[in-house]
Amino acid sequence: MGEIWVIADHKDGKPRKVTYELLGKADELAKAKSQKVGLVVLAGDAGVAEELKQYADKLYLLESEHLKDYNCGAYMAALTELIEANKPSLILIPGTSTGKDFAPRLAARHNAGIVTDCVDIEWGESLVATKTAMGEKIITKFSYSEGLNIAVIRPKSFPVAEEGFAGRAGEIVKTAPSIDPGTMKTKLVEFVEGAKTVELTEAEIIVSGGRGMKSAENFKVLEELASHLGAAVGASRSVVDAGWMPHSIQVGQTGKSVSPSLYIACGVSGAVQHLAGISRAKYIVAINKDADAPIFKVADYGMVGDLFEIVPLLTEEVKKLKSQQ
Ligand code: FAD
Repeated sequence: MGEIWVIADHKDGKPRKVTYELLGKADELAKAKSQKVGLVVLAGDAGVAEELKQYADKLYLLESEHLKDYNCGAYMAALTELIEANKPSLILIPGTSTGKDFAPRLAARHNAGIVTDCVDIEWGESLVATKTAMGEKIITKFSYSEGLNIAVIRPKSFPVAEEGFAGRAGEIVKTAPSIDPGTMKTKLVEFVEGAKTVELTEAEIIVSGGRGMKSAENFKVLEELASHLGAAVGASRSVVDAGWMPHSIQVGQTGKSVSPSLYIACGVSGAVQHLAGISRAKYIVAINKDADAPIFKVADYGMVGDLFEIVPLLTEEVKKLKSQQ
């Protein structure tokens, strides 16, 4: 049986948390079948490789000027060459925007089995991936067949692999894939850095706004609370459709599925499509002026009232508490 691979997701020379989560899972799956763990780092630097190598038997460091910025065509070419040379049996891909973009294409290219948005993967009679639907009311299990298989894993599905946990061989294999620029059908024109905020899918606390925010400017009220809580800001689809906030922070069925410890929903009614994205939140706090809003049915704590009065009061209380620490 071939190696179990993890494709690393890293930014600004630092691996994202989800990479460590997948490495822990890969270690568990590999141990059960005496397989080896391979880690693929595209366009990573030596620092990323050094930091991650202990978690894998082999760390494939792919170096090419065409991999410097994410490009699906370049990723396909580089990964295809590596897969054909090494024949892994399973590839775990982080369910980040990049991973979600290239994974289906990779599966099609290699005629591989793929399950996207998995929340678990384990050995049964064969390899079985789990995903949820309808706000976690339905749990679906998919068993893979023989051959190359791919699982795209939702961030925060597994605990982070502990530092130095596996003591794997950590052999660094540097390769320079041959990438024909003609296969790169898109090119990066400009990179516009958004506000530096906590990544929604990795956030421990999310302060989210709905149509009750009434305008883009009013999100300042939420951003202020979020900055004092070290939280990410999320939004409902109504907010995104109105153009007040970007789609990248939309929570829900057609946005992101999040799993924070605390989700504070402000002026969000609690439509089923929104709830589908927050079913894995540990605690939900709802602030809404309508006592009958459906969000209160799922909230652990609720405040009925005007969010423009309540949120600033909360911010003041958080500031006070933090100044006492
Ligand atoms: P509303 O439903 O209009 O609710 C606004 C709330 O704000 C109300 O409850 C109101 O009482 C409260 N409010 C108003 N003013 C104040 C105030 N001053 N203080 C306190 N409370 C106040 N939606 C998503 O969010 N995410 C998705 O991914 C998503 N995907 C969808 C996919 C499909 C196929 C479809 C059909 C719909 C999808 N939707 C999604 C849309 C969803 O059905 C709802 O329309 C949307 O979630 C409603 O957004 P909202 O709660 O912000 O707005």
